[in-house]
Amino acid sequence: MDHVNLCIVGAGVVGIAAAEAFSRHEGANASIVLLEQNERFGQQTSSRNSEVIHAGLYYPPGSLKASLCREGNALLYAFCSRYGIAHRRLGKFILAQAGEEDSLLALEKNAMANAVNNLSWTSAASLHKQEPLLRAAAALFSPDTGIVDSHGLMDTLLQHARQRAVAYAAGTRVTRVTPLTHGFEVHTTNTGDGQAYRFQCERLVLAAGLQASALAAVVEGFPKALIPDIRLLKGNYFRLAGAAPFRHLIYPLPEAKRHGLGIHATLDLQGNVRFGPDVEEVLQLDYRVDPMRRERFAVAIRSYYPGLEVTRLLPDYAGIRPRLRTADDSAADFQILDSSHHGLPGLVALFGIESPGLTASLALAHRLVELSRLQR
Ligand SMILES: Cc1cc2nc3c(=O)[nH]c(=O)nc-3n(C[C@H](O)[C@H](O)[C@H](O)COP(=O)(O)OP(=O)(O)OC[C@H]3O[C@@H](n4cnc5c(N)ncnc54)[C@H](O)[C@@H]3O)c2cc1C
Repeated sequence: MDHVNLCIVGAGVVGIAAAEAFSRHEGANASIVLLEQNERFGQQTSSRNSEVIHAGLYYPPGSLKASLCREGNALLYAFCSRYGIAHRRLGKFILAQAGEEDSLLALEKNAMANAVNNLSWTSAASLHKQEPLLRAAAALFSPDTGIVDSHGLMDTLLQHARQRAVAYAAGTRVTRVTPLTHGFEVHTTNTGDGQAYRFQCERLVLAAGLQASALAAVVEGFPKALIPDIRLLKGNYFRLAGAAPFRHLIYPLPEAKRHGLGIHATLDLQGNVRFGPDVEEVLQLDYRVDPMRRERFAVAIRSYYPGLEVTRLLPDYAGIRPRLRTADDSAADFQILDSSHHGLPGLVALFGIESPGLTASLALAHRLVELSRLQR
């Protein structure tokens, strides 16, 4: 039976970044495989997001989301600059309407607790000069928020990984994992011809996004009590036809319990504006955008962009957040479970890698390499 040092399951941005990081740290003699069930990499959440490089303002201080977002932000800008991946450090305004200034202040304090110390207050008059079509009583400006070509990022990371002897197999679904005395036996099915194949690996990283819990459930010996219940929280987008009315990323204050960041405006690298994502709980992976949601979008957008012409709002795409269920319905932190949690040496499993997972991807990959070293 074939035998490799490391198997990474899931070729979204996190699994691909992990493959790149492991291949760099383990040298040319290591054998690493990256498995993806779809025909191509990054077809799930990693290509259905806002492509925003977040600065790390929102997350609870001390959380993995806070630290990995902050680290990931710097790593991502550096990686993109070095390898010519399209990105723009546009900056973003977070807007407070009259009476909301205290919430903006609280957000600034939270950001500072996360070591994000370069936010600046912008008066309504100054905001008007920079973004004349917006309405707000005050705003915070985040200079380190930007946008990135997520496909270009994944493509470059994967190329680097493959040049360093990572074997990448698309159309390969992991169906069962059996722990051995040392390592694991991994059972796979070719999603094209249904052919089964199995091999052994010493270490295993599970980066399966929306299917993270389904995958953990087929790992023999993985404690059922540790497998989180993943809620599917869809985020719909509407694009704005015609010329962009803003030059920056524009966010209202976040929603209660960190459900979402509020229906905000992002620009893509071509300069087009899209609004969203909203938050809609769904029971299955359905990426269609219901045009009936337009009115709801219009109401939210008009609170800060009163001149919106609703006919310019067109249904665009949707992504789905793998939101871990919590007792109080609030957003959970990323979960990284290693053998100290589940008792299976050599296995690291990721759960709940929702936003800011794209921003955090390179930092998450570093963390996985560190953890894997400690477990050897
Ligand atoms: C609406 C929305 C907006 C977002 N906006 C942002 C943003 O602006 N900035 C930001 O930083 N983050 C954002 N995010 C979060 C970010 O997109 C995700 O955190 C990130 O893409 C997660 O990557 P991943 O590799 O963990 O998961 P995925 O991209 O889902 O990849 C997991 C892969 O595992 C594969 N897989 C699953 N099971 C198996 C199996 N059994 N065998 C083989 N392969 C398997 C899947 O096919 C999939 O390709 C957003 C997310 C959403 C939903």
